[in-house]
Amino acid sequence: MYDYDLLVVGSANADLVIGVERRPAAGETVLGSDLSVHPGGKGGNQAVAAARLGARTALLARVGDDGHGRLLLDAQRAAGVDTVGVLVGGAPTGVALITVDPSGDNSIVVSPGANGRLTPGDVRAAGSLFHASRVVSTQLEIPLETVVEVVRCLAPDSRFVLNPSPPLPLPPEVLAACDPLIVNEHEARVILGDALVSERPEDWARILLAKGPRSVVVTLGAEGALVASGAGVARVPSVKVEAVDTTGAGDAFTAALAWRLGTGDSLAEAAAYAARVGAAAVTKPGAQESYPTAAEAEAL
Ligand code: ATP
Repeated sequence: MYDYDLLVVGSANADLVIGVERRPAAGETVLGSDLSVHPGGKGGNQAVAAARLGARTALLARVGDDGHGRLLLDAQRAAGVDTVGVLVGGAPTGVALITVDPSGDNSIVVSPGANGRLTPGDVRAAGSLFHASRVVSTQLEIPLETVVEVVRCLAPDSRFVLNPSPPLPLPPEVLAACDPLIVNEHEARVILGDALVSERPEDWARILLAKGPRSVVVTLGAEGALVASGAGVARVPSVKVEAVDTTGAGDAFTAALAWRLGTGDSLAEAAAYAARVGAAAVTKPGAQESYPTAAEAEAL
């Protein structure tokens, strides 16, 4: 019996957002709107998304001993995430400085801060969390060496889900543990590199699968997703919605899929559920603020 349905290992950022008429050129100052601060980071997003759906969720992350860190911890706890694995200190909390212009285009500068100080040693020290978790998911907003250590600390019968974002070439040891590897188009292109010999997402899924993961999911935004495993490649349709803001849809999709796999769903069933959650997330502004409860996802 596991204490947690999902352990998320990953980043927690404060997203600092200012609306501007236009972005400043070098050396220029422009006035913007009031500042708004939102809890974000791919790890934090995934943990909140899973907990909102009802998954027993724990987060292993690092934040700074500062106001942003406290804001992020409060947001996790309010969603029902167990923050016993969130380490505090070592560097300022990670932040994303985001300017958004009237057309919705944004410019983002990320300071990884404490996310970059989540070490392999921190992962080893949290060994009991790994043994208590049915599914473990992570992303690449923490050091790659830390992700490698996550793979080494997995309990023998737990399942590992990776969204390699921002994308990097992955070591074979990490690829072989993924079940599934979840990529969007940009991530697929970077990870395939020279192996990208086709413009068809079905081919990306097949070629990625041949690189070692036990299964692969390619997300295609409003076009839904593809799932690939030894059983072949299958398309998962999207749920038609009026998209308001797609920020964090991929994190909601990944968290929902990871959780459902742990409940015994097949990859195709879990992806169909995750597509409802991803669709619900795009109907509201923001990332964590837009994530649905299970009832809201099922009502779609
Ligand atoms: P992001 O980086 O913006 O968080 P992503 O690029 O990683 O997202 P997407 O492929 O955009 O991931 O979205 C993940 C899933 O969410 C899709 O596979 C789909 O099921 C659902 N989704 C995303 N956008 C829409 C949309 N406009 N309409 C319906 N479903 C959507």
